[in-house]
Amino acid sequence: MTVMDMQTSFLDRLFESGLLIDTGIDGLYGRSGQFEEVIAAFERLIDTFGGADGAEAMRFPPGMNRAFFEKSGYMKSFPQLAGTVHSFCGSELDHVSLLQYMEVGEDWTRGQEATDIVLTPAACYPLYPTIAKRGNLPKTGGLFDLQSYCFRHEPSKDPARQQLFRMREYVCMGTELHVTDFRQRWMDRGVEMMKAVGLEVTIDVANDPFFGRAGKMLANNQRDQNLKFELLIPITSAANPTACMSFNYHQDAFGTKWGLNLEDGSVAHTACVGFGLERIALALFHHHGLDVKQWPASVRKALWG
Ligand code: ATP
Ligand code: ZN
Ligand code: MG
Repeated sequence: MTVMDMQTSFLDRLFESGLLIDTGIDGLYGRSGQFEEVIAAFERLIDTFGGADGAEAMRFPPGMNRAFFEKSGYMKSFPQLAGTVHSFCGSELDHVSLLQYMEVGEDWTRGQEATDIVLTPAACYPLYPTIAKRGNLPKTGGLFDLQSYCFRHEPSKDPARQQLFRMREYVCMGTELHVTDFRQRWMDRGVEMMKAVGLEVTIDVANDPFFGRAGKMLANNQRDQNLKFELLIPITSAANPTACMSFNYHQDAFGTKWGLNLEDGSVAHTACVGFGLERIALALFHHHGLDVKQWPASVRKALWG
C-alpha cells in the first residue's frame, strides 16, 4: 500500500463515518457535530494552559483588508497559496454576457473584479496593523489570543491539508527575550498538552514554503536561524509526520514593517504560536479511533473533565 492509498483510505473513512463531509473539492470539507465537539474541547484545553497569561482575545472574520494583505508582503513569499475575493461589478450588458458564458460552459469569471477583501492566510495577519494603530505598546508588551478560518490554495487528498481550516494563535509582542521566552513556554506546553490527550509528538526546526528559487534561500535562512519550529504528529504517514502546531519567531521584521514600537520607542520583536485545530482533531481520531466513546478514559477526561 502506498502512502497515497493510506491517505485516501483515512479520508474515505472520515467521509464514511460522517466526521468530514465531502463537498466535491479536495481540502474543502464540512464537519460533523462530533468533529466540532472535539475541536471545542481541545480549544478549552488550550484555554486552561494559556488562560492565566491574560492574553487579549480578538476574533477576525476569515477575510482581511486587501491593503494590509498587500503591505504584509505575502505575495512576495507565498503567491501560490493566496486567495482573493472577486465580485461581479459590471453593467446589465456585462450581466447578460456573464450568463451566456455560464450557459455555454465558458469562463464566466473573467470579468470579476478584485474586491477590498482577501482571504486570511494566517490568523495573526489582521492583528499587526490593528495593534500598530493603537500607538506604542505598554511596558509589559502585548499578548493576543486569536482564532480564524484561514485559506491556502493547496488542494490535497490528505485530510490534514485543507484549503479552509482553523488556526488558533497566541501572538506575543515585546523585547527579544520576552517573545522568545513566550515561544519556548508554548513549545513546552504543546508537548504537555498533546501528552495529556495521548498523542506522541516530536518537535523539529522547520521552514515556510517560500515560492521560487529565491525562496530556497529564505527557507534556508529561516532554518539556520531557528526561526520556525513545528510540533509533529504522525497522521497520514509515519515517515512524514504532520505539523499540528508551529512556533514562529519573526525577530523585528513585523515590528519594523507595521511600526510596532515599545514604550521606549524601540521596535518590538514578535512571535506567534499556531494550533492547527483540524489537524489536532484528525490526529486524535487517527490515534484513538473514529468513535469518541471508545477513546481512552484519560483522553476523554483531559478533554471533557
Ligand atoms: P505545513 O508545513 O504542513 O504546510 P505550515 O508550515 O504551512 O504547515 P503554518 O503556516 O505554520 O503551517 O500554520 C500554522 C498551523 O496551521 C500549522 O502548524 C498547521 O497545524 C496548520 N495548517 C497549516 N496549513 C494547513 C492546512 N493546509 N490544512 C490544515 N491545517 C493547516
Ligand atoms: Zn502567526
Ligand atoms: Mg504550509
